[in-house]
Amino acid sequence: METANTRAPDRSQLKVSDEVAIEIDGMNKWFGNFHVLRDIDLTVYKGERIVVCGPSGSGKSTLIRCINGLEEHQKGRITVDGTVLNSDLKQIDKIRSEVGMCFQHFNLFPHLTILENCTLAPIWVRKTPKKEAEETAMHFLEKVKIPDQANKYPGQLSGGQQQRVAIARSLCMRPKIMLFDEPTSALDPEMIKEVLDTMIELAEEGMTMICVTHEMGFARQVANRVIFMADGQIVEQNEPEAFFNNPKSERTKQFLSQIL
Ligand code: ADP
Ligand code: MG
Repeated sequence: METANTRAPDRSQLKVSDEVAIEIDGMNKWFGNFHVLRDIDLTVYKGERIVVCGPSGSGKSTLIRCINGLEEHQKGRITVDGTVLNSDLKQIDKIRSEVGMCFQHFNLFPHLTILENCTLAPIWVRKTPKKEAEETAMHFLEKVKIPDQANKYPGQLSGGQQQRVAIARSLCMRPKIMLFDEPTSALDPEMIKEVLDTMIELAEEGMTMICVTHEMGFARQVANRVIFMADGQIVEQNEPEAFFNNPKSERTKQFLSQIL
């Protein structure tokens, strides 16, 4: 598989803390009778960059959607930055306020400008004064290198630019953790790099990240851990070097032989 030629991260900036960011313990989820996630155990430390890969339908999206309560789990325990995710809406709100999410389809509001997309939640959810929200939005639009697009509408931007707006919009809520679900898989090849470079910058700033992606170049360079899922289970996980050079399970070998 072709992988995007991203810039190399500054490895000295990539640090993992011994403090836990996310703890998942014996988590199971069903859609009706369909057992989609089975006995998931996962501890994520602050500053980790985890890449999740695996065949289509293996439960990757469902797993990360469970982490911020977009999907409910039925068994086991998810704790995010010390807050247990249960049906209590206050807890769910607290977790969502700390966890940013970025999807394959950017889900920007088409009738709002880029700036308005970025200030909407801070103003209406956080009650941030408009001027302050706009300053913060401009700060993050500069960070993703498109401050000059602030007054345009999403439809006037390229896919890569829209995805960077989606990342900036998440950052405006000051998340402690970012979840990415195939952020580059809807993009033309020449736009993948600019989005991955933005993610590399976040990693260098110490953001805790879980990224579902098939960008294996990114996984090798940026991840500290790669997780392989199949049939709703974590089949194998390891540091990228060992994961790619010395996969243990047959399922992992088969998957890698198909995508690499
Ligand atoms: P992946 O992201 O690894 O491709 P998903 O987490 O999207 O996998 O889906 C895992 C399985 O759960 C698939 O078989 C999918 O069809 C099923 N699934 C996903 N969402 C739902 C839903 N809302 N209702 C029923 N089944 C679903
Ligand atoms: Mg998916």
